Amino acid sequence: MRAMVIDKSDSGQQASLCDFNEAELMEGDVTVRVSHSCLNYKDGLALTGKAPVVRRFPMIPGIDFAGVVETSAHDGYKPGDAVLLNGWGTGETHLGGYAELSRVKGDWLVPLPAGLTAAQAMAIGTAGYTAMLSLMAIERHGLTPDAGPAVVTGAAGGVGSVAIALLHRAGWRVIASTGRMQESEYLTSLGADEIIDRATLSGAPKPLAKERWAAAVDSVGSTTLANVLSMTRSGGAVAACGLAGGMDLPGSVAPFILRGVALLGIESVMAPKPRRVEAWGRLARELDLTKLDAMTRTIGLADVAEAAAEIIAGRVRGRIVVKIGG
Ligand code: NDP
Repeated sequence: MRAMVIDKSDSGQQASLCDFNEAELMEGDVTVRVSHSCLNYKDGLALTGKAPVVRRFPMIPGIDFAGVVETSAHDGYKPGDAVLLNGWGTGETHLGGYAELSRVKGDWLVPLPAGLTAAQAMAIGTAGYTAMLSLMAIERHGLTPDAGPAVVTGAAGGVGSVAIALLHRAGWRVIASTGRMQESEYLTSLGADEIIDRATLSGAPKPLAKERWAAAVDSVGSTTLANVLSMTRSGGAVAACGLAGGMDLPGSVAPFILRGVALLGIESVMAPKPRRVEAWGRLARELDLTKLDAMTRTIGLADVAEAAAEIIAGRVRGRIVVKIGG
């Protein structure tokens, strides 16, 4: 089968599109014929080797995929079932989605939700699913749009684009923070009510700053996250899901102890099955598919390496689907 494979030699790691022996697929009770995968920031890290995402060589990257069950020894799935998978170490410790076939544990799979095609599911992908987990965490915290606006950082990226559309649909006034002010029209079309330059969140963070929003979805981390926290209203909450700007958090405890602000950690890889099913079901029902279409472009496996460099450079707008087969 055709696959993108990352291998390691003395000169470092190399990614190439090649033939991969199906017999070398890893253990699992379901084999899926993959039709679509996508490009997430973590796939960019894996393919460029910028961070040690890949834990086994050779590795087929691709942290998520959608397709049709080919063979199954799992009670929940039979040949022909449409399924998707995200996380569980796929593309990191387990051979991933950039291949015509993937063999995985059936327990990792989610049935493709009614209303979504495989291509749409991967247009959403891990990034969009993480945006939904962030919204769900803000809601679980008890916040509603009456509390004030919600800010989205890394707005023109994958998590950011889907988060804007979801928050808008849920009734929030959405403030989009971007380094690409030229994308203002795009962000407005997704549902942003106000666009701010990300430079306003990149200065040295004060312990407390003027209160600007009640909720946040932050895919940037570092100084940006510290500034977002310092500008969050009393009782507000910040869903921290990313590190596109860095992994550190150079802030103060002041927002927590003086304003009762909550920092909500968002982790998509090992999220339990019921939360996954809920998130994917909500995405199928609540995400405006016209907006999803407008934020997505499709590439082939041969284009993935180039796109990986682009996403790490912060130059990808919205989402990229990778068409694999069928
Ligand atoms: P994208 O590259 O599509 O989006 C990231 C965006 O962040 C960019 O488009 C850019 O937006 C902004 N950005 C990039 N570099 C910087 C910088 N140096 N300083 C400030 N802003 C920057 O990636 P994804 O949306 O796929 O992922 C976003 C983050 O979320 C990643 O760190 C990823 O690892 C993380 N993530 C975490 C998950 C989890 O389980 N917690 C799951 C999925 C993703 P703009 O140009 O608009 O400023």
